[in-house]
Amino acid sequence: MKKRIIIIGGGFGGITAMHALKKQLGHEVEVILIDYRANTLNKPRLPDVAIKGESIEHARFLMKKAVKQDGYNLIQETVKKIDAKNQKVFLSEGGIEEYDYLILATGVEKHYSGIEGFTEFGYSVCDDVQAPRLYRRLQKFKGGPVFIGSMPYKSGTRIDAPKLLAPCEGPVGEVMFMLQEFLTKKGLVESSPITAFSPAKIFFEDVGDAVRNDVGAIMKKEGIGLMTGKIVSKIDEKRIYFEDGTSELCALPIILPQYKPYAFLEESGLTDDAGFIPTDKQMRHLDFNNIFAAGDATALSVPKLGHIAVIQAEIAAKTIAADLGKKVEIPAFDPAILCVMERSNLQATMIYSNVLYGGKRDETLNGMIAFMMKWGFDFYYNFTRGHMPPEFAEKRLVQYLSKK
Ligand SMILES: Cc1cc2nc3c(=O)[nH]c(=O)nc-3n(C[C@H](O)[C@H](O)[C@H](O)COP(=O)(O)OP(=O)(O)OC[C@H]3O[C@@H](n4cnc5c(N)ncnc54)[C@H](O)[C@@H]3O)c2cc1C
Repeated sequence: MKKRIIIIGGGFGGITAMHALKKQLGHEVEVILIDYRANTLNKPRLPDVAIKGESIEHARFLMKKAVKQDGYNLIQETVKKIDAKNQKVFLSEGGIEEYDYLILATGVEKHYSGIEGFTEFGYSVCDDVQAPRLYRRLQKFKGGPVFIGSMPYKSGTRIDAPKLLAPCEGPVGEVMFMLQEFLTKKGLVESSPITAFSPAKIFFEDVGDAVRNDVGAIMKKEGIGLMTGKIVSKIDEKRIYFEDGTSELCALPIILPQYKPYAFLEESGLTDDAGFIPTDKQMRHLDFNNIFAAGDATALSVPKLGHIAVIQAEIAAKTIAADLGKKVEIPAFDPAILCVMERSNLQATMIYSNVLYGGKRDETLNGMIAFMMKWGFDFYYNFTRGHMPPEFAEKRLVQYLSKK
């Protein structure tokens, strides 16, 4: 009988795992993708939706088409429990699905309600509800101080992963730069100073000094302010309040909320002390041999990046293929921060850094090439329904950066 592999979550991690399983195992296995959403969301595209008013459709593609293209099956439902001992997945409508292998790629919940006052006065860019909502707000914005930053990240203690206080500051950087351009065009830049804030002592703590200095220089040139060691305690109509007792006048608070692990994973006994999934570097669960994980839901994914989710998903799929007797080379988990921050029309800053993981690369690429790379990636990802640009593209990029 064919082995049955269930993937929960059809985002960067889940879709990559599915395509990789197709490549390694084809129809020798049965693969089922479960997701409650109808669309896969390409989150790096959301700042364009929030600030430039790009159609939300440019940031998503139909999940069922991606699954059909691989000849696998989609169940559009919410998973509410996993019985790891008996290898069963429980669905919200009462269904029970059995598996031989399970890949957890659920991402995390964006905990907006954890910020007092957010529902009435706060804005964000993290999903396809918040990004268009911010765009609508900007159309009516008359000026005033703008604050952009993230809530703190709480990591667990079970595995050895970098300890960061911010889950991922790339979106903060991208939004502040794009917003500066928006305010300039609207003639509001003088009356609307932008301040970025970070829960960490250092903004962009996940990269090295070279990248940080480059980003800092652009912020200075653009007149964007910075506050570090700041954790939001609440917001109201006029002010943003921090846990250290300070507060600032604020007309527009844009916040990346806490990255909160999904409770059902913890209730199913699959998480570490912070709610994230503990795995080894082949993405195998530390306690269950036939459970794998990839992406933001894993304890190893620090910071929370699509690029890391993709690396992990490839490793998980290849390790399963090896378990099933295929001769496959399983790549080492060798992450890097790869993130492109659009700044204005045709201008972007791309970051490539691995110093957080003991590497030596710490570079930025500014200008039109970086912009085209973001555009090219998004086009490729959406058009191919979740395939990554060929591996050589990243290798060529690294070579290009070395010669720069
Ligand atoms: C504005 C923004 C910009 C970003 N820019 C970059 C960038 O430039 N570069 C980069 O590398 N990363 C970037 N990221 C981060 C990147 O988007 C995430 O790291 C990535 O999406 C994580 O992938 P994932 O598969 O783990 O989770 P997700 O993409 O969140 O997918 C999880 C899926 O699981 C499903 N799911 C969850 N719970 C259940 C359940 N109980 N039952 C069924 N289905 C469930 C969800 O519906 C979802 O489809 C950005 C993020 C944001 C918010």
